[in-house]
Parts: sequence; structure tokens; C-alpha cells
Amino acid sequence: MSNAEVPREPQTFVLWREAQDTRIRTRLGGIYYLLAWLLTWLFSDNPTQLLAWGLAGVGLFALLFALRLLHHLPAQKTPQTLRTWLDRHWGLVLLTALAWGLVHAWALNDPAFASSWLVATLSTIAFSTALTFNFSMRKGRAIVALLLLYLPGLIALALDWHEQHAILTTLALYLSYLVLALNRSHREYHNTLTLELELREQQQSLEQLSRTDSLTQLGNRYLFNSLFPAMLANAQRQGEPMSLVLLDIDFFKRVNDEHGHTCGDACLSAFAERMRQVFRRGSDALLRLGGEEFGVLMPNTTLEQASVLAESFRLELTQQGFNVQGITLPLTSSLGVGCFDPQRDDNAEAFFKRVDDALYMAKGTGRNRLVQA
Ligand code: GH3
Ligand code: MG
Ligand code: MG
Repeated sequence: MSNAEVPREPQTFVLWREAQDTRIRTRLGGIYYLLAWLLTWLFSDNPTQLLAWGLAGVGLFALLFALRLLHHLPAQKTPQTLRTWLDRHWGLVLLTALAWGLVHAWALNDPAFASSWLVATLSTIAFSTALTFNFSMRKGRAIVALLLLYLPGLIALALDWHEQHAILTTLALYLSYLVLALNRSHREYHNTLTLELELREQQQSLEQLSRTDSLTQLGNRYLFNSLFPAMLANAQRQGEPMSLVLLDIDFFKRVNDEHGHTCGDACLSAFAERMRQVFRRGSDALLRLGGEEFGVLMPNTTLEQASVLAESFRLELTQQGFNVQGITLPLTSSLGVGCFDPQRDDNAEAFFKRVDDALYMAKGTGRNRLVQA
């Protein structure tokens, strides 16, 4: 499963992980119940005499096996769908456990299985051991499954206490070990899951940090590099226009020189805030491309629409400047605006260069202006 399909929300992730684990672990198990029944039946004293029962058992365990295999995880992964899936899948696990528990008790009680009851008992031990270590995600349910698997046999043995007390005592002792082991296995499963969850959260916040410019809280150059070609490809697929605005603050070096670097930093933050106020569409991506250079990726936006917004940004900045640390700074910016044109732009880089050239022209022809690419 690709990373994109893994649920991000922690509660959904935990349920999804549990459902995945449950599915993987039940997939193999089903076939062994079928095999164990075949062995118990075929090694019984007279399998032909038990033909009808034998085939019924094969049918039952084959059906349970098939149901487990066919019970696919829900396509929609929400806490509700995952919980329902888990409940149903556990239903199958419990049903299989009960079916085997009854088979085991029957094999112990019926003289027809005099030659193969040990096969059934050994299988019960194997199944309960596998269950303890594989299904410890849910402790309560696993204990119920264990009891369904185990108790019918113990009761059958208790009914024949005189003959069977040694094996009954041994099996009962083993059951107590299984419950203890299940407890530990349950703890370990959830510790590992918690650890995985913490790692994922850390990874997500690191990812977020690595894409965000810390001064302005806009996306950074790294984000731009991955977003730009992806958004462009998407726009082409949808047959929609896609515009790019590049902004560069004019004579910014002077701000630093005259008012200090801290004031320069405050200007950059204020500039980003102003961008957020003007380019407000949720689909616009606002980025700091480096130093005092910014960009806006505007999907589904024509050159005219982008130019109108960009020009209003420029005018507002010219008229109001910035009020930073009690001083009003008369700041201006130069802008290049372009809309992707497949006739002219071979690729994303060519498009970027066309808009960057327009910005360069805005600088060269006097600054504080907008040039359309
Ligand atoms: P132009 O109009 O040609 O763009 O002139 P300019 O001074 O804005 O451009 P130039 O490229 O000569 O200088 C950019 C300045 O931006 C230089 C640098 O000190 C400043 N700068 C870049 N990044 C930061 C930053 O993170 N904080 C501060 N305070 N200043 C920065
Ligand atoms: Mg500049
Ligand atoms: Mg610059």
C-alpha cells in the first residue's frame, strides 16, 4: 500500500493498522483448521463410516476459510467502517474457534476417533498457541476465542476424569500459560503501535517544517519545487489555466542597511501577511522563494484575473507601505505575472523563466510595476 493510502488521522490509522494486521494474520490460519479436520477424520478408525460427517466438516471449515479470505478491507477507511469490518472479522474468528472446539470435544468423546483424537488435541494446542500470539490486538476477544477453542475439549476430558485427568491437568496448565502470554503479547502489540504512531506524528511535523519558511510561515522553495510541476500537470489534465505571480521587494537591501536586519525580517513577515490578505483563494499556493522574493501559484486562474489581483497588491503596498516597529516604510515591489501556455512553454522551467524574465523587466524599467509575461 502506498503512503498516500495510509490514513493520516491517528484514530483511523490505529484502526486501519489493526484491521490490516488482523486480515494478514487470519489469511493463513483458515486452511489449517480444514487440514486438521481432514487429518482427524481420515485417521479415524473408519473414515468411510463417517463419510457424511467428514464431508460436512470439510464443507464447514472450507466455508469459514473462504469467508475469511473474501472478507476484504473496506474501500472507505473511516473509524466506523473499520470498526464494523473488525467486528465481522472477529465474528468469523470466533465462529471458527467454536467449530474447532466442538470438533475436538467430539473426537475426545466418540470411540470412532480412538486412533485420531490425539491429532485433534495437538491441533487444539497449536491453534490456541497461534491465536495467543497472532490475535493479541484485542485481549478480551482473544480470550473468548481461546475459551471457545479450548473449553469444549476440557469439559469432554473432565467427563472422563478417571481416565483423562493427567492430560486434562496438563492442558489446563497450558491454558493458564497462554492467558499470561496473551497478556504480554497484547501489551507489546500496543506499545509497538503507540511507538509507530509517535514516529508518524514526528515525521509529519518534520515534513511540515521542512516545507515551511520559518520567518513568514509561507511555503518554502523546497515546497515550490514539488508543488509547481504537480499543479501545472494537474491544470493541463483538467484543461484549466494556471497562473504564476513572482514578486520581489524593491531596494530591500536599503531597509536592512538603514533600519537593521530585525526590521528587515519584520518587513518580510508583514509582506507575507499582506500576500495572505490579497491572494485569499484556498487553492492559491503562497511561497517564499528566497530572500525577498515571493511567488503565488494560482490554479484555474487566467492571466487577466491574476494580473488584477497582483496589481491590486502592488498598488496597496505603494499607497500604504509598511508600519513596522513604529516606523512607516515606503516599500514597493516589482511583479512578473504569467499564465501557462503550452504553445510557448515546453515545460514548467520554461514557464517559470518566462515569468521571471517579466519580473526582471519590471525591475529594469523602473521598479514598482507589474509586467505580464
Ligand atoms: P532590487 O530592487 O534590485 O530587488 O534590490 P534589492 O536590494 O531588493 O535586491 P538585492 O538582491 O540587491 O538584495 C536583497 C536583499 O534582501 C539582500 C539581503 O540583505 C536581503 N535579505 C534577503 N533575505 C533576508 C532575510 O531573511 N532577512 C532580511 N532582513 N533581509 C534579507
Ligand atoms: Mg529585491
Ligand atoms: Mg531579489
